[in-house]
Amino acid sequence: MHIVFIGAHPDDETSASGTIAKYTAQDHRATIVMATRGGRGHWKIPSDELEAIREEEMGNAAEILGAKVRFLDHRDADVPGGDAFREELVDVVRELKPDVVITFHPQVWRDDHRRVGLAAADACFKACLPLVETRFPAHRPVPDIYFIGRPMVPVEPDTYIDITDHMKVKLEAFRQHRSQWVKWDIDDDDSTMPIEEIEAMMRHRARQRGMESGVTYAEAFISQYLRKRALDFFPLKR
Ligand SMILES: [Zn+2]
Repeated sequence: MHIVFIGAHPDDETSASGTIAKYTAQDHRATIVMATRGGRGHWKIPSDELEAIREEEMGNAAEILGAKVRFLDHRDADVPGGDAFREELVDVVRELKPDVVITFHPQVWRDDHRRVGLAAADACFKACLPLVETRFPAHRPVPDIYFIGRPMVPVEPDTYIDITDHMKVKLEAFRQHRSQWVKWDIDDDDSTMPIEEIEAMMRHRARQRGMESGVTYAEAFISQYLRKRALDFFPLKR
């Protein structure tokens, strides 16, 4: 199985990093595709410098997760909306041939995340159409899509992955994103957050998801249009 995570900024994969680690540990493949290098994700570090730092951080985190990384060359906070970006992702999907795509729910907070999520989901379908001719042949079947993030309208997760045995790896991978140990919601030059505080928050969140699903630590996803659940209720008849 090939899991492809499509995100906007290095560290976005953190919502699914326990799941990625769990499957790569079982010899499945994972690729992390980031639309940007996160060059505006800091209060002070200049953009060029920050992009280089975050590219390296992402590489280190991916290595810990057993995943490969690919960057698309868009600018942080300016991920394009619209058809051209979707077309670009059609070729990413066709080339990487994922069985599962994890991306942002198209209604989450932040335009970069929304644009990536919507374009990725649409690209997964368009990539399967043989009459859409691009550099690569069509990829079928359409991958299973799982969404991350907190949508601005209430949507409950319907898929939980037990990451109890991979919580340590999840924390270790996030530790690599050192430039992102910052608080965004305060007006303070010293906005660095102690990693222990961040890890406590990550554990708390994974524990909450674990309690919802009857395990110690979990990650939660929203499956594509509740497709799996719908098929349980209405099995296809041929
Ligand atoms: Zn992000």
